[in-house]
Amino acid sequence: MNFYIKKIVPLIFCNFILYANDFTSKYLEKKLQATDETKSLVPLAIIGGGSAGLAAGIYGGRANMHTVVFMGTHPGGQLVETSIVENIPGVSRKTGEEIMDLTKQQAKEFGALLLDETIKKIEIETSDDDDKQIFVLTNDADEKIYALAIVIATGSSPRKLNVPGEDEYFGNGVSTCALCDCVLYKGQDVVIVGGGDDAVEKAMQVAPYAKNVTILVRSDRMRAAPKMCDKLSDYENVKIVYNKKVTEIVGDGDCVTGIRIIDILTLEEDFMPVAGVFLAVGHNPNTGLYKDLIDISDDGYIILQSRSQQTCTPGIYAAGDVADGQYRQAGTANGDGIKAALDAVKYLRSKGFTEKVAREMRPRYYKGMVR
Ligand code: NAP
Repeated sequence: MNFYIKKIVPLIFCNFILYANDFTSKYLEKKLQATDETKSLVPLAIIGGGSAGLAAGIYGGRANMHTVVFMGTHPGGQLVETSIVENIPGVSRKTGEEIMDLTKQQAKEFGALLLDETIKKIEIETSDDDDKQIFVLTNDADEKIYALAIVIATGSSPRKLNVPGEDEYFGNGVSTCALCDCVLYKGQDVVIVGGGDDAVEKAMQVAPYAKNVTILVRSDRMRAAPKMCDKLSDYENVKIVYNKKVTEIVGDGDCVTGIRIIDILTLEEDFMPVAGVFLAVGHNPNTGLYKDLIDISDDGYIILQSRSQQTCTPGIYAAGDVADGQYRQAGTANGDGIKAALDAVKYLRSKGFTEKVAREMRPRYYKGMVR
């Protein structure tokens, strides 16, 4: 009897609700019987809820696909750590958080489901008899979710210096988020390590609180855009020091008390007393989860096919910093997300995912886990 309920009833149920002439049918049907899962289907799963993921969510939602954005551990992505954003076309002087709140709202209005869940595993299951495939995602509650197409938009994580003391004092003087931690350094001296836009941004975030802010650049030039560097002239307590590398972060056992540095031209060593060290030395793409599924470049980025967001695996698309080692702007991440969703929707349609199929699959759609 148990067998009947578990295997035969779903079989009949599936035969009724799924169409036999498209890729959502036989294989999916077989899969769902085998797993006894009844409400775990996602036609378009977007992994990551930053600029790229939410833009993909808007387009997936607008295409009337049941689109789920798995927001992950950093909902809103890097932009929520940015104070004033002024280089997204058409958006003038809003905070990163305001922009991401508006983007989330827009994605929801178009029907995307934004879930506070993290995907920790992805597997591809292919049928024996043909090339039909399904992606099996596992979330942080160990639930299995069956997706027909995926957009990877997991962004990148702040790089570290890999010097002694960095891990020991991370959270107690060492930080990658100036917007989060700036108030902790009222009246104290801090250093920002790095010479890109992020370093300038962080310096401007900390300067209103700190006594002195030093931007420590390892070469003889800033990599940040000249317009960004110009803004620093508004802050009298910010200075830039070139040709210096951090060799150690020093503390008293509880908090940071300073950094050891070396001049790369003279090799002279020095100690700089500071209470805070903000790291702004770039980011590494978050691609660890996908290395067995798709091609990843030597420097860790997802490799895309020509001018699309398609990876080497049909049905998997990528957008934003996870696949872009070159531009890495919120605006370009938006564009990537849009293209990835359009590519994914086209793929689903080409595989027979029609409005009719969507309607009939609806009772099986994944709506989020009950925590
Ligand atoms: P980035 O442009 O790659 O700059 C990284 C900086 O860190 C460079 O100055 C680099 O020095 C330095 N660096 C790397 N490893 C280091 C190490 N071990 N020790 C010391 N210094 C090290 O990265 P980003 O500033 O994070 O910016 C990433 C992207 O986001 C860029 O495209 C940027 O335009 C964008 N962004 C824009 C804004 C904005 O417009 N408001 C804000 C933030 C970021 P070298 O130059 O010597 O390699």
